[in-house]
Amino acid sequence: MRSILTALILLSLAGAAGSASPYHLIPGAVPLDSGPDGNSIVLDAPKGLIVIDTGRHPEHAQKILDYAKARNRPIAAIINSHWHLDHTTGNWDIRQVYPNVAIYASNAIEGALATFLKNNRADTDKMLADPKTPAAVRDQLIRGRAVIDHPDRIRPNHLVAKSGRMSIAGRQLDVHLAKFAATEGDVWIYDRPSKTAIVGDLVVDIVPFMDTACPDGWAKALNEVAAVSFTTLIPGHGAVMNRSEFLQWKRAYDNFVDCGHSDVAKETCVDGWSRDAARFIDDAHKAYARGAAEYYLETRLRSSPAEQQKYCKPLKA
Ligand SMILES: [Zn+2]
Repeated sequence: MRSILTALILLSLAGAAGSASPYHLIPGAVPLDSGPDGNSIVLDAPKGLIVIDTGRHPEHAQKILDYAKARNRPIAAIINSHWHLDHTTGNWDIRQVYPNVAIYASNAIEGALATFLKNNRADTDKMLADPKTPAAVRDQLIRGRAVIDHPDRIRPNHLVAKSGRMSIAGRQLDVHLAKFAATEGDVWIYDRPSKTAIVGDLVVDIVPFMDTACPDGWAKALNEVAAVSFTTLIPGHGAVMNRSEFLQWKRAYDNFVDCGHSDVAKETCVDGWSRDAARFIDDAHKAYARGAAEYYLETRLRSSPAEQQKYCKPLKA
């Protein structure tokens, strides 16, 4: 009897050790020659694992599935921080193994399907028709096109329509909805016991990915993040930050947007971003970050007034 009890205690300790960290991070990469994967974060819940963001490439989704297998726990829920395909494409890989997985997201994908992703699909066909498109890029394009053609593969089946405390897979989380930020509806999570904020692309270390952004709504969302008492913040791309690192990144973001709205020379604004965010930009991405900052300055911060407001209201066909 005593040895059985000892064995049970040891087993339960082993189980606890397996989930001692408040989260498990599967880092996404931002390669220079193909599309990025967002970070994936796995949380333990009473009914199984919760996966926040599922990446783009099949190799990334496989890492999530391998982790669940190693933990011997099912994936009970997915939370998508936003609809960008580097955060949602893996939903389908996970659904094929766990068909009953609950998928939580805002409804922003609907407007995107009618506009941005529709245009994206047309570009995809053009690139696939071009024999110069490399094989690795081709695979990625075909995978992206498949989810655009079959959006039910990645669509949420549980809508996040407002901020509030939610029970997801039996675990209580503070779920925040930031409207008109990096997308029409960005979901970010605050876990009170571990003081961890998981914020998706509201924070991207090397450069804010502003392709579908409402820059001022995004700044407002960063203020809301700053208002919770987190000590650890996991961005959509890049390394985990502490509070002071986040505040430094936020200052860099605010300065960049302010500069963009001013008539200061473009080059000066790009220099400003590179300087203010220097600690978050590794050597390999220095030129990438500058190029992207310049592109977002032209397309999102200094385009026509109508274009600047395009993502500050619901997307419609
Ligand atoms: Zn992303």
